[in-house]
Amino acid sequence: MTEQPPPGEFDLIAWFRERTEVRGRTVLGIGDDSAILRPFPGELLVTTDMLMDGRHFRLDRDAPGDVGHKALAVNLSDIAAMAGVPIAAVVAVALPRDRAVEVARGVHAGLIALAERFEVDLVGGDTNAWDGPLVISVTLLGEASPPGPVRRSGARPGDAILVTGALGGSLLGRHLRPEPRVAEALILHHRAPLHALIDISDGFAADLAHILQESGGLGAVLDADSIPIHPDALTMSRQDGRSALDHALHDGEDFELCVVVDPDDADLLVHNPPLPAVVHRVGTITADPGLWLRGEDGVSSPIVARGFDHLRPRPG
Ligand code: ADP
Ligand code: MG
Repeated sequence: MTEQPPPGEFDLIAWFRERTEVRGRTVLGIGDDSAILRPFPGELLVTTDMLMDGRHFRLDRDAPGDVGHKALAVNLSDIAAMAGVPIAAVVAVALPRDRAVEVARGVHAGLIALAERFEVDLVGGDTNAWDGPLVISVTLLGEASPPGPVRRSGARPGDAILVTGALGGSLLGRHLRPEPRVAEALILHHRAPLHALIDISDGFAADLAHILQESGGLGAVLDADSIPIHPDALTMSRQDGRSALDHALHDGEDFELCVVVDPDDADLLVHNPPLPAVVHRVGTITADPGLWLRGEDGVSSPIVARGFDHLRPRPG
């Protein structure tokens, strides 16, 4: 589909191809008009995410390899959030013309390194250059694991709410190199029936609110002193005066999982965590709608979810 191939496009594709190993489900990877994958018995998961220079990263400051890592990692996190197994990816890039080859190689090096670690085949893509900023879009295919994908919609009143790691302050740099919880989700899924699952990308409160809404308009009470706070949230709190707890509740891009299970299963998972991830029990689902934070004094106050929304005007 590239209308005006920049010089070297096909050398670049050959360079990608040499660095890409295929296995498993892939019959034919990079090089033809379409990749060929072998079908599999389970349900097929499909997800896509686009990252744009100036919005999700800044190429004047961030390494192209980190951008490639993140572009695949956010998709891996979405497959993890269904308790699926990632299989194969395609990547489309719009490269800034003045640095096209250097940026493409850097982005692909970061992406391919992560793909190797997660045994994902990079089976194709599209390469374009223009006078605009770097845009990269990855589409990832995955396979559901038994007993089936975990949706956002299965939470029930009385269920426990868990998170797989410390939250907040990812903007200090962690957000560029997230470690998707793919293996951890599969272990949790194997150990107990997960009622609902989401990855924390918009902000913990906002993503939990998606579960509450999709589960038929439920509510939740979070225990302030049980929410695991990342050291980066403490650092940011010292810098901007917002509380570290506020950062943990509302900062995006932690890429931990929020898991909803039966309270008995919660104990089991907390005591047998899917190492290296730990599991923290942070609250309870309620039949009454609304999101509440219970302090150490037992007094609850409402939480207003304010995770990132691309279509909302920025606050001044
Ligand atoms: P077509 O014009 O038929 O769409 P292209 O010339 O765009 O094919 O691509 C040639 C081959 O290289 C295809 O197999 C395509 O999937 C692959 N490809 C192109 N760009 C990338 C990329 N950035 N990463 C991985 N594979 C790519
Ligand atoms: Mg073609």
